[in-house]
Amino acid sequence: MASEIDELYLPPPASFAVERAPRKKLEEIQHARLKALLRRAWERVPFYRRRWQAAGMAPEDVINIEDLKKLPVISKKDLEEDLLANPPFGTYQGSFPAVRVQASSGTSGHPKPVFHTQSDWNVIGNFWARRLHAQGVRKGDIVQFVFTYSLFIAGFTATEGAMKLGALVVPTGSGAVTPSERQVRIAKDWGTTVLAGTPSYVLHLADVAEKAGFDLRRDFKLRVTCHTAEALSEPARRGIEERWGVVAYDNFGSVETGAPTFECVEKSGYHINEDGYIFEVLDPETFEPLPAGQEGVVVATSLFKEAAPVIRYNMEDISTLIEAPCPCGRTFRRLGKIKGRTSEMLKVRGVPLYPTAVEEVLERFPALTREYLLVLSRAGQQDRAAVQIECRAGAQQDAGLKERVERELKVVTGLSIEAELLEAGELARHLKVEDRIKAKRVWDRRNL
Ligand SMILES: [Zn+2]
Repeated sequence: MASEIDELYLPPPASFAVERAPRKKLEEIQHARLKALLRRAWERVPFYRRRWQAAGMAPEDVINIEDLKKLPVISKKDLEEDLLANPPFGTYQGSFPAVRVQASSGTSGHPKPVFHTQSDWNVIGNFWARRLHAQGVRKGDIVQFVFTYSLFIAGFTATEGAMKLGALVVPTGSGAVTPSERQVRIAKDWGTTVLAGTPSYVLHLADVAEKAGFDLRRDFKLRVTCHTAEALSEPARRGIEERWGVVAYDNFGSVETGAPTFECVEKSGYHINEDGYIFEVLDPETFEPLPAGQEGVVVATSLFKEAAPVIRYNMEDISTLIEAPCPCGRTFRRLGKIKGRTSEMLKVRGVPLYPTAVEEVLERFPALTREYLLVLSRAGQQDRAAVQIECRAGAQQDAGLKERVERELKVVTGLSIEAELLEAGELARHLKVEDRIKAKRVWDRRNL
């Protein structure tokens, strides 16, 4: 059941023209689609209408793309409050014929529902097809999805995208439904060429396969891995590429936005599907737009979405816009490496700390696995930070390891963080590595 919206956002190869369109043409497309989006939201999404009215704004006041900045920035908290006041689904879904609800975990621990119409779902599938195609997935590939199939969106929409390309999908899901030993066996026996999942789970599968006696580079036909949901740090990328003998790609997005961005073969920032999205990078305090190259908070507008559109939605991720042309030939602008989430930023003894900074340090030590847990506690009035880390077999005999890790942590974070070295597998069991959707890395016990 194709609507007119479906026909605007095509999968490859039909999308090649728009992916390489002149900037002027892209801006014309964005302008027309922004006007249509604002009109739809005004008429059918009470959440936005109320906020714009409160700010003295109406869709007519947005004459060109620059005027978008006159509209209020929406936070995760705004959506959560709307949900609380208007249970069970909130008024941000709008009145559209939705056919599917997915959800994000939400900061409060309650799932935040996100509705999709048939068209929303189809378009996000097309954007996933663009991602996978840009990362080398083609008809004939055997793509094994090891994302969790649940209220979490990525597994399902990624599957749609791969099918649109004509690849053969193997939907094994996470370790919770297909044990990791079986995942590895299927990948080998069925000749999986592409593995798509979170970086931590794909690395875990490498451990499982090695333990089962496989030679990762010889016994498998893997060429490519595609990731999302957890940030792919450069050390994790190198680890995946070297161990599996693949090229590993990252994709940045969220349940609320769909599949907005992707890395191309250059692996140098995330191309934004600019026919379907407008991304801004704003000053985190004032929400004033920042010039390209300057670090700020990422704010997204989904032009195509009918149900639960996001319009100036603060993703709470810190990054930069890259305007320089990409050698791949796409004219879609890029988002730089994600530096961290403002919502994930911790303050320890008054010093800002991103868990990703801890991860970058740990990944410099080959003796450590990637499993870690940052534990914050309080001794008297003083914050105490410790990181529990799994080591590979034999590493605990290395008397200087603990001290070297602590020294690096101090250099990178500016904080004294105690390192507690654990045996391999100890933390993985505790953190339920088989079952999780994405890794939880912080246990803040300071207010317990
Ligand atoms: Zn590119």
